[in-house]
Amino acid sequence: MLLHHSLKKVFALVSTTTASSKGSLSNWVSTTTASITTSSSSSSSSALYSTASSSSSSSESDTGAGILGKLAPSAKNLLFDVPVSNNGGRARIILYKKEIPESECTIVTPMDVGGLRSEAYRAINPQGKMPALHSHTTGLSLAESDTICRYLLSEYSALAPSFQPDNPVSNEIARFHDLYLTTIQTCLYKPGPPFGSMGSRKEALQEYSKQLYLIANLMVDDDDEGPYMCGKEVSLADATVFPSIVFASYMFPKFEDFQEKENSQSQQRQPPIPKKLEEWYQRMIDTDSAFQKVYNEIMGGLSEWNEKGRWDSIWLAGVRDTEPGTLFDKIIAKEIPASIVKEDDKILAFQDINPAAPAHVLVIPKDRAGLTRLRQATPEHYEILGRLLVAAGEIAKDEALGFGEDARIVINDGASAGQEIFHLHVHVMGGRQFSWPPG
Ligand code: AMP
Repeated sequence: MLLHHSLKKVFALVSTTTASSKGSLSNWVSTTTASITTSSSSSSSSALYSTASSSSSSSESDTGAGILGKLAPSAKNLLFDVPVSNNGGRARIILYKKEIPESECTIVTPMDVGGLRSEAYRAINPQGKMPALHSHTTGLSLAESDTICRYLLSEYSALAPSFQPDNPVSNEIARFHDLYLTTIQTCLYKPGPPFGSMGSRKEALQEYSKQLYLIANLMVDDDDEGPYMCGKEVSLADATVFPSIVFASYMFPKFEDFQEKENSQSQQRQPPIPKKLEEWYQRMIDTDSAFQKVYNEIMGGLSEWNEKGRWDSIWLAGVRDTEPGTLFDKIIAKEIPASIVKEDDKILAFQDINPAAPAHVLVIPKDRAGLTRLRQATPEHYEILGRLLVAAGEIAKDEALGFGEDARIVINDGASAGQEIFHLHVHVMGGRQFSWPPG
């Protein structure tokens, strides 16, 4: 597959124009398209992007295959994506670096076929997510980013660079990324949990950082071997990880310190993104125009999110626990004594110093996380609230603690309801008859 040399100028031009394109998607497309149009030496088929205007007019065939057939009909492949898309970013890096022309693969958006939930888009990507690829030539549709990348690498193997699809280390980095990072990435920007397998944002942020360190350990050791993750040549690992680091380096600073408190005493806190990865990321932006272009595309979208106040209501970013601490913090820190009956990494249960029943235990979250009282609870607290109640239930049947067949479980919410200590706590009481209604 040969690529005309004159196209290189066009792609270079595209690379340098997107930095200022921080508007809407239509701005992005039109800015990019406009920049291509100014390159008089190129034919219109050299542009990667299509405004796909022909598809937006309605007609009797504007469902499913009808819309699709009219979308950039001269292109062999369509990549459905938007600039801010993280997972699609890797496919765009491949398109830009290999300089695959629009006639081979045109970037369109799901909106061009009615949006992510439209029948036409679901036919291409049943997950209703981005990216997706559709081949006009063969009718093949692909809905998963790594598969799309490998398809592009195989289809356009004659165009350098190869992206080392057979390098086991590159593949391992990409798999680590997709299995352990992508699955929890929403902790950086979504309003509430769960974040993959992580029930709390703090844990998810910690895990995300840990996984970045594991990936950094797989990169080539010596800087001289770079500049890419696996050496002198770009690989799928670079394309896969880069868009996530655009997200991470933009978003981590928005969050208050989420690392374990114990770390601060025993060792110096480490930055959330390892230095090695940070240096590689900066190197890619500074020296590689394809990576720089994707950086600009994603950053345009992220700036818009920021301007719309995306992080204002997100726990640990715009929302933090600023209330004064209580004596329960001292009990957690073991600075004042308590008769502890149960403890794990998340909760602490101890005998009430002034028991209201023969058996009276308090169960508290170790990290108050804004839970001064129950009515402060949000979906961010689903996991800890579940843990507190499960622990309360276990304690309530512990005969060794004086509990019997039944128990009274109480949460006082506010001063007039009897709350004295503003760190959420569950009273577990037993060993006597309780009356109703309570006083
Ligand atoms: P509340 O009135 O719902 O805020 O409950 C606070 C509970 O904390 C009361 O039942 C107190 O008896 C109990 N309490 C206060 N100080 C201590 C302490 N140092 N150790 C154990 N329990 C305590």
